[in-house]
Amino acid sequence: MELIKHISKMRNYINRTRKEKSIGFIPTMGGLHEGHLSLIRKGRKDSDVLVVSIFANPTQFGPEEDFESYPRDLNRDIKLVEAEGADVIFAPSVKEIYPDGYSTFVEVEEYLTSTLEGDSRPGHFRGVTTILTKLFNIISPDRTYLGEKDYQQVLVVKKLVNELNLDNQIIVLPIVRENDGLAISSRNSYFNEKEREAATILYKSLKKAQEWTIEGEKDPARIIRKMKELIEKEPLAEIDYITIVGPSSMEKVQSIEGEVLIILAVKIGKVRLIDNMRVKTSMCQS
Ligand code: AMP
Repeated sequence: MELIKHISKMRNYINRTRKEKSIGFIPTMGGLHEGHLSLIRKGRKDSDVLVVSIFANPTQFGPEEDFESYPRDLNRDIKLVEAEGADVIFAPSVKEIYPDGYSTFVEVEEYLTSTLEGDSRPGHFRGVTTILTKLFNIISPDRTYLGEKDYQQVLVVKKLVNELNLDNQIIVLPIVRENDGLAISSRNSYFNEKEREAATILYKSLKKAQEWTIEGEKDPARIIRKMKELIEKEPLAEIDYITIVGPSSMEKVQSIEGEVLIILAVKIGKVRLIDNMRVKTSMCQS
């Protein structure tokens, strides 16, 4: 496996290896865990050349967010990626990606980037779409693997790729969870024991919502209210949003019909977590 830190070298590598080979790409911010590894394993199976990027992207963090403290341990990450058989880790510095005077940004401009995460984290998606466009240009992947954990991000990236006519298939993989249901996240490493226990409330509330739907509840407002009541019983939890939307539109639904997405963001202490679950009403009839 090669470790590459410079854009020119990354391009050379791609130009050397690209001929008739398929390139798979997993973008990450490091702090790797089983969620990332599930993407890497699938990418490894599908691709001749597999590139994993590790870059905590400053432009997608707000000024009050955790860019400085975001978990970084490149040596640990290199070992994990190497053990999965990837060909390259691309781990550029911030200066390499955003040299002094940098001023070009890529933005998906619409409802999709201004609701939910876009609303709570202004500028977040602009940072995501900018770094991904740059990485796509440097690596020119045939396939890029993303996790459903960042559900809204997947929709934004699909739109970006489609509207910029990039020849890059977006493959989406399910959320990997801990045994107690907590969605695995690099940010889980911030938790003390009490917070870690409290963090299970996100998954518990999603499972409850799924149960209520299966029992025939059709009113999203009632489900959201009951989820709120449940989460508010947890003293360390502070709800940012809970909503039930169409899984491709991200528009609020008036009634639970067909497939819906229940999506939430909750702070546990100082740590902001997101999670989601797709629920099919056909599950209700079985
Ligand atoms: P991040 O390093 O947090 O930017 O995540 C890099 C990729 O890993 C994104 O596509 C995430 O959606 C995905 N990912 C993060 N956590 C999980 C998880 N628990 N299960 C599946 N995919 C995940």
